[in-house]
Amino acid sequence: MNIAIIGSGPSAFYAAQSFSNDEKVNVDIIEKFFAPYGLVRYGVAPDHQKTKNIIKLFNRVLEKDNVNFFGNINVSKDISLDFLSENYDAVLLATGASEDKLLNIEGEEKVGVYGSAKFVGWYNGNPEHSNLKPNLNSKNAIIIGNGNVALDCARILAKTKDELHGSDISQKNLNLLSNSKIDKIYIVGRRGPKDAKFTISELREFKEVKNYSTLINFPRETLKSFINDSKIDTRVKKNLEVFDEFYNKDKKTKEIIFDFFKHPIEIYGDQKAEGMKLKNQNGELLDIKSNLIIKAIGYKVKPIGNLQMDKSNNFLFSDNGHINKNIFTTGWASSPSVGVIGTNKGRALEIVKKILSVIIHSKKNSTEKLKEKIINTKLVFISKDQWKTLDKIEESNSMPHFVREKFDNVNIALDVLKKN
Ligand code: NAP
Repeated sequence: MNIAIIGSGPSAFYAAQSFSNDEKVNVDIIEKFFAPYGLVRYGVAPDHQKTKNIIKLFNRVLEKDNVNFFGNINVSKDISLDFLSENYDAVLLATGASEDKLLNIEGEEKVGVYGSAKFVGWYNGNPEHSNLKPNLNSKNAIIIGNGNVALDCARILAKTKDELHGSDISQKNLNLLSNSKIDKIYIVGRRGPKDAKFTISELREFKEVKNYSTLINFPRETLKSFINDSKIDTRVKKNLEVFDEFYNKDKKTKEIIFDFFKHPIEIYGDQKAEGMKLKNQNGELLDIKSNLIIKAIGYKVKPIGNLQMDKSNNFLFSDNGHINKNIFTTGWASSPSVGVIGTNKGRALEIVKKILSVIIHSKKNSTEKLKEKIINTKLVFISKDQWKTLDKIEESNSMPHFVREKFDNVNIALDVLKKN
């Protein structure tokens, strides 16, 4: 059986692992970037290397003889979904959610306002966002959203070079971050501390940030009363206990401020963002000046060809993963973008089971036909062996104390391959 998996993030690899356990199944992973691993490489924070360790498992999948990699091939732009559907027994879209949701407020398009897909992509060397040049000369940074991505963005802005040792942040971005003028980072939630979607270990990391005090703009007595409420959910209680510890932190010159019950109303400024207006619970308007505003409010799928979107317009419409004909979907392409890396494993395994049970093997020489199409279209793809070469060079190019120096541009990667 011949399967094309589009995308090479966690869901794609969990599915590829499951498919490839059967030697009669041939899996071609097709990825728009030259490098595999999607969210693990470009989404997980550079200082969360333990989470990135899942790449070791994915590498073992890539090593298998019945798994191929076609990097630098953008499905629907370079090669149509119809071509893949006609030439493979099944196509599995595991393309993730790469677009930012919108606040839908005035001024959102101003220079200096970034969705977290762009900002996280920038600090992680995503080729689509590596030239972002966020304004780090702003004294204040505002991060909208109370989820783990907001925490990632705040932590990367706050950490010193030494605190980023052991990460895979690039030398260029490290220098920019080291020269940042930011001394106040506002993490703004539209709801209260009980409703924050942070997870405890990510919140605890803020107790250790060297140059910043962590402050809570919320009455401590009210927070205590929440903690002492016998009906409170254990996960929420643990978060609130960490918040409570923040009140006791030593005063430092720089501050991370958790600010609650503030609804974004408007981003003002000429062409560049100069600040943000927010409304509090009493309906009063407040103003925070800032030239750097990051919206960490969740992700949505970039539409693929003319495939129908779910009524939320955030992910692809499907019937439990089946889109139409022999086309299926899984992961964040198929459902709301929530959960940790492992969350999507179960769904990926389910869709593999479904595909294997409903699809009858009939297509032949799929890999050869794809290669032929790529050559005829004058495209250049990165094979798994070429990726292995790039991977080793990235590791050997790393600065002392760091893990790797990522290539963030496909032309540089292709040039390097010509010389190696
Ligand atoms: P998230 O957890 O869904 O958080 C999104 C935040 O944005 C929520 O606080 C939400 O508030 C807020 N928001 C949404 N629309 C808004 C609006 N119009 N105005 C103001 N605020 C708005 O999403 P995420 O942070 O992007 O994370 C995505 C998933 O990846 C999550 O499941 C997260 O846990 C996971 N992740 C995990 C890690 C880790 O484990 N280390 C790291 C990063 C991400 P409401 O609650 O009021 O809707």
